[in-house]
Amino acid sequence: MIVFFRRLPLTLKLLLIGIIPILFLIYFSVLIFKEKSQTVELINDNIERVDQSANISELINELGRERGYSYLYSIKKTDHDKIVAHRLNTDSIISILKKSSDLGLYRFDEYTFLNRLNETRAAIDSSSLNPDAIVQFYTDAIVRLNTLNSTIPSNTFLKPVYQDLIAQRILAEMITYLEIIRTNIFNALFIRKYMTETLLGTYGVYKVYKSYETEFLVKASPASITLYNNEKKLTDYGVTMTYINKLFETFRFDSTYNEEQWRAVSTNGLNVLRKQQRDLWKSVDMRMKEISTTEVRTKNLTLLFLLIAILFVIAFIAYFINDITRLLRELRLAARKISRGETDLQLKNMPSGVIGNLAKSINQIDKNNLRLTEAANEIGKGNFDVEVNTRSDKDLLGISIKKMQHDLQEFASQKDKIQKETQELVYKRDEFFSIASHELKTPVTSLKAYTQLLLMDATGSGDLQREKMLQRMNAQMNKLTVLINDLLDISRLQNGKLVYNLHTFEMKQLVTEIIDEIEPTSEDIKFVFNPDTNALVNADHDRIGQVLNNLLINAIKYAPDTKKIIITLVRKDNYIVCSVHDFGSGIIPDEYEKIFERFYRISGHNKNTYPGLGLGLYISKEIIEKHGGEIWVESEKEKGATFFFSLPAEKFIK
Ligand code: ADP
Repeated sequence: MIVFFRRLPLTLKLLLIGIIPILFLIYFSVLIFKEKSQTVELINDNIERVDQSANISELINELGRERGYSYLYSIKKTDHDKIVAHRLNTDSIISILKKSSDLGLYRFDEYTFLNRLNETRAAIDSSSLNPDAIVQFYTDAIVRLNTLNSTIPSNTFLKPVYQDLIAQRILAEMITYLEIIRTNIFNALFIRKYMTETLLGTYGVYKVYKSYETEFLVKASPASITLYNNEKKLTDYGVTMTYINKLFETFRFDSTYNEEQWRAVSTNGLNVLRKQQRDLWKSVDMRMKEISTTEVRTKNLTLLFLLIAILFVIAFIAYFINDITRLLRELRLAARKISRGETDLQLKNMPSGVIGNLAKSINQIDKNNLRLTEAANEIGKGNFDVEVNTRSDKDLLGISIKKMQHDLQEFASQKDKIQKETQELVYKRDEFFSIASHELKTPVTSLKAYTQLLLMDATGSGDLQREKMLQRMNAQMNKLTVLINDLLDISRLQNGKLVYNLHTFEMKQLVTEIIDEIEPTSEDIKFVFNPDTNALVNADHDRIGQVLNNLLINAIKYAPDTKKIIITLVRKDNYIVCSVHDFGSGIIPDEYEKIFERFYRISGHNKNTYPGLGLGLYISKEIIEKHGGEIWVESEKEKGATFFFSLPAEKFIK
């Protein structure tokens, strides 16, 4: 299981981490929303309950009135129409209550005796029910309804209206009991018999009424109490109560009211109480609706808030997952770059913590790599002073670079030493050649002069054998002169003292002159000169002649079996190209460049056979290049070699 979780991709793990709190948040949001909905439902139930309580109070009032009219009708047989009108009011309230969804009112007519209402009414209409029984029926129903009304729910949501709810219930009780008291007083005033007994019999009800009044003055809100006290002072309710109080103090009737006057005054008094109760209901109803509206608004706001919270959490989680994935991707790229040997990664804006430390490590690796690379680079350039710091004794790269630095430094110092020694040797050699050539030049020149004088003498005397020997001597002298001249040229080239005397001359003429000079010394070789073109060149006539002479001498020297040497002049763009072709053993391509180097001679059978210093082609190359031309060789094995040199032509001529 652990292995399974470990192998899950990081993005999936992060998603899981993100999804779990979101699921919890959604779960709790649903719970909170449900609770809020239940609260609203509860408040609405309370409103329904309170509304129905108001209807019960109204029903109690209507039944009270119906009782009064029915009683009057039973004793006086008058105002039957008023009874009928009141019955309609009563019935309409009963039908409203029957339709209520309030469980407290379930089949309420059965236990409030109201299921016998129609039966009682019929008995009243047919005068088969005595007045006391009528009053008793209605009073029983009212008392029962009052107990129904008294079950007022007490909960947090009703707190702000609870005091008024209680006050109105007490008022309802007071109205019920006041109704009984005033009916009994009316009865006594009407029949004018057993008056003191009636008062005595009603005294208990009066006391209950008084206790309700005390409860009202204790439990009602200050505003309700003030209103009540004012009404007691200023309205017929106060007049009614003063008269009742007096009756129960003295238990004797006086002549203040006859029964009709009493009915009028006490009806007004009762109505004052009824109005206060109704007003309380109205204000309770209004405030409860306000509570409900506030609660619904809170519920909707809560829902909105939760939705926003969920969206925020999702957005944050998505952002963080994306951010972490991006950071890891950057680190992976950095690591990959390092693995490819790249440096200077510049990981920026990394967070602190695990990822930050990882980034720091990668940056450190990169920094070290960069430092080592730069150090290696500097070492490669020959700067051995650069500092190489190994990171630990296991830092193979650092150790290797340090070793490389040491070895290369050693090697470089060896090389410098050898180079210095070589330079010294070369310098000594060049100095030797320079001195030697200068010292040799004078005696060789005079030797040559004497040889030529002796040759002239031998030729004149006809001594053929002597002449032949002296000719050989002269030829050797010439070779020696060439060698000494080459050495002198080299030292001049070395010192930058080789001076070129530039003149304009015809190439064709120069080639002809050089061939003419050489031809007598090599009688068995045929020099074929077929110029394709001719040109005027501005050059050092003698030096260019020296080059051509050198090429021809080489052709003779290195192709001893050749019977023919072909010399050409061709045009190549603005250059005139001269070539010397022999039919010797040729030169392999590897040697094409090398033979133009100083003192280079191809090793092999001809090395000893043909004396030389390996300077002719080197000097020729220097001369031709100083004139802005080129010199090169082409050859095919066993088919001879062709040497070319080009010079910028001033003008091509026929
Ligand atoms: P040297 O003739 O004194 O050796 P050069 O510089 O004139 O010096 O020539 C260099 C070398 O080039 C010669 O030693 C020879 O081996 C090679 N070489 C020059 N010309 C020819 C040629 N025509 N055929 C074959 N090899 C040649």
